[in-house]
Parts: sequence; structure tokens; C-alpha cells
Amino acid sequence: MPCAMGITTHNAAFGPLTASGKQTLIGLDLDELASVLATQGMEKFRAKQVWNWVYSRGVKNFDEMANIAKPTRDKLKEHFTLDRPTTSIHQKSEDGTQKWLLRMVDGQEVETVHIPEEDRGALCVSSQVGCTLTCRFCHTGTQKLVRNLQAAEIVAQVMVARDALNEWPQPGKPAIGSSGKPGGEAPLRTLTNIVMMGMGEPLFNYENVAKALRIVMDGDGIAIGKRRITLSTSGVVPMIKRCGQELDVNLAVSLHAVTDELRDQIVPLNRKYPIKELLQACRTYPGASNSRRITFEYVMLKGVNDSMVDARQLVKMLRGIPAKINLIPFNAWPGSPFECSDWNVIEKFSDLLNDEGYASPIRTPRGRDIMAACGQLKSASLKLSATERAEIDRILAEKDRAQGLAV
Ligand code: SAH
Ligand code: SF4
Repeated sequence: MPCAMGITTHNAAFGPLTASGKQTLIGLDLDELASVLATQGMEKFRAKQVWNWVYSRGVKNFDEMANIAKPTRDKLKEHFTLDRPTTSIHQKSEDGTQKWLLRMVDGQEVETVHIPEEDRGALCVSSQVGCTLTCRFCHTGTQKLVRNLQAAEIVAQVMVARDALNEWPQPGKPAIGSSGKPGGEAPLRTLTNIVMMGMGEPLFNYENVAKALRIVMDGDGIAIGKRRITLSTSGVVPMIKRCGQELDVNLAVSLHAVTDELRDQIVPLNRKYPIKELLQACRTYPGASNSRRITFEYVMLKGVNDSMVDARQLVKMLRGIPAKINLIPFNAWPGSPFECSDWNVIEKFSDLLNDEGYASPIRTPRGRDIMAACGQLKSASLKLSATERAEIDRILAEKDRAQGLAV
């Protein structure tokens, strides 16, 4: 449904998902897959077979489905596809981070980022093209066109990364391990975790995100478990409980300020769901415990939210919530109106939180050289003149009005 002022937020199917016009088999749950296959006269058990090939092996070509007879494979080929979205750009940072700019069939683009670590790695997945919200420090928020991604487009991001990292299990080869511990020949897996921290607000596209994550979690397929999945929200309070009850994934909350006055400015969604309500939703988040803490993300903005008074207030307000605090050095983007706090200020802030008993790692910026770090994601990079800056301010104001967040 296109809404006012050129922002499109439609959720409905927008026609065939693939360039070939064939129905994709990616992103369907098992029942849907069975129904779709039944349209070609295939029995129910085929769905399970196809599912295994698609999600356990990552095959792109129906001819590789060795336990399916040729006439059935031909029928699958004729009517269906396993094509991935087109990769418009694939970049690798000097620190090993990789970023894919993926083009959907309607020409819209989203970014997916892989951040490898020594014995594991996270894939930062997008939930929307752009974002309807307008956090003032976030590049994605300045993007005018917005639409929800379909479940298939979310799952496909994981599949593209597994393709590129060559991490689909291969017959006859040892299974891929997720740690470097001795005891096996298995090569190291580098896509072990999913973070819903790419473009978009995942709780504004809950149905598609939930469907996609269920597919990713399924033990007979990609099998990345709920404890290895983190969903980050800017604070869509009414959806937080449901997310915990239904998906039981780890929760990250983009807090970034300790007063409503400041949060109203930098995370305008706060005007609708203020800090008190947000923290109450966190306090009662199903599944949160001392061994499974909620991550509070806090972007360090020079002279804005980085004083020791802010740090002390943060400690006070999180009391009683099983929490850890992730301090994110602000990543600049062309035209961004903030500066990153000085390093010694970030360290002092972190020390205070640590002294009060909160784990508060400072997130090492990854992939900055390819604009893949937090908040830098946006399909096109911009060099801004004053007129262009004014245009961005106009877009932000329009988006806030469309969300009912205008002041
Ligand atoms: N929309 C969701 C998830 C995507 S953003 C959310 O807001 O939580 C992932 C994280 O990056 C959020 O904590 C977000 O606030 C933070 N972020 C956005 N822009 C940033 C920037 N320029 N520098 C550092 N972190 C940023
Ligand atoms: Fe959207 Fe998250 Fe960026 Fe805010 S920080 S504009 S919610 S993507």
C-alpha cells in the first residue's frame, strides 16, 4: 500500500519474486511448499525432499536433487525456481567483512553484511528496503523509498551468504564445524549467527521476519538456532512480547539516550513509545534471564549522550533488567550531523558501566572502509551539498509525519 509522500510501505506480494516469472520455492513454510508442489500434482512427501535439498544442501538447480526422478525434476524446473536475488555489488573489507548489495526483482536493493570472527561469524540481515523510521544518526533512515521485505527475500540473504562462503554441507565431505576445537577435520563455519540489524525495523515487518527466521532455525535445514539469532529493535513496544513468546530469539534494544527529551530527538519513535514503556517491555521479555541478557545498544555521540551523568543514569534505569550494554562508536556517513565520541570518553563510559557490574563491550567498527558498519547501510552513498542536506531534512520530517511522529 503506497502511503503519502512517496514512501511505499506495502506488505502484499508484488508479483513474481523472480526475474524468470516462475514461483520461487524459497521462503515458503513446509505446508505452503507442499501446497505449491501439489499444484503440479506432486505428493506431500516431495515437500520434505525438496526442503532438504534447498535448505540443507543449498542446491540452486533441480537436477542436483538426486533422489527425485527426472520427470518430476523436469516439472519442478518448468514451474519453479531457486534463483537468488542478483548481487549488484559484492565488496570485501580489509578486515574480512563482506557486504552484498542485493537487487530484488522490483529493482529495489538491500544490503547484507558478514562479519567474521575467529571461530564464528555473524550475518547482519536486512528486514526492509530502507526504514520508515528516522533515527538521526542512521544512514538508512534517510532513505526515502521504503518497503517491507518478503520472507523469501530475508531467507535469500542467508542463502546468498552461505553460497559465497561455501558453507553448505557437501556429501562425502566432513560436516562444517562451528568451532576450531580439536577432534574433527571439519572446516570452520563462519556463518554461525544471525543479527537482524541490517536495514529496516524488523518489528515493523514482523510477519515476514518471523516466517523467515522460522525457516532459518529449522533443524532440518539451515539450522541456526534461536540462541544464535538476535533481533534488534528501536523500540516497537507492542511487538516485543510477541517476538519473545513466538520466536524466543535474543533481543537487542537500540536505547541510545537516557532521557525522553533526547531520545525523542534522536530516535523519534520514542515520541510514541517512551523509555519507561520500552524498559517495562524489556523487564517482562519472555526468556530474558541472567544467562540470556537483553543487549542495550548505545551509540556514542560526541557531546550528545556521552557524559558520565548519562552513564550513571543508564546504570540506574537498567536496574532489575538482565542487561548488557553494547557501546557502538558512531559511524559517520556523508552528511551525518554527529561526530563519534573521543576514544578515551568511550572507555571511561564503559569503565563506569563495568564497575557497576554491566558487561559493556565497545563494539569494534567492522567494514567501515566499505560502508558496511552499523548505520552506514544505504544502497547509494551520498555527497551532500547544503541543498541536499535540506532535502534530507525534508524527507525525515515527511517520514516522521507519515508515522505520526511529527513534533
Ligand atoms: N532498526 C533496528 C536494527 C537496525 S540498526 C534498530 O534500530 O535497532 C542496528 C544498530 O545500529 C542499531 O542499534 C542502530 O541504532 C545502530 N546504528 C544506526 N546508525 C548508526 C551509526 N551511524 N553508527 C553506529 N550505530 C548506528
Ligand atoms: Fe531504522 Fe534502525 Fe536506522 Fe532507526 S536505527 S532509522 S530504526 S534502521
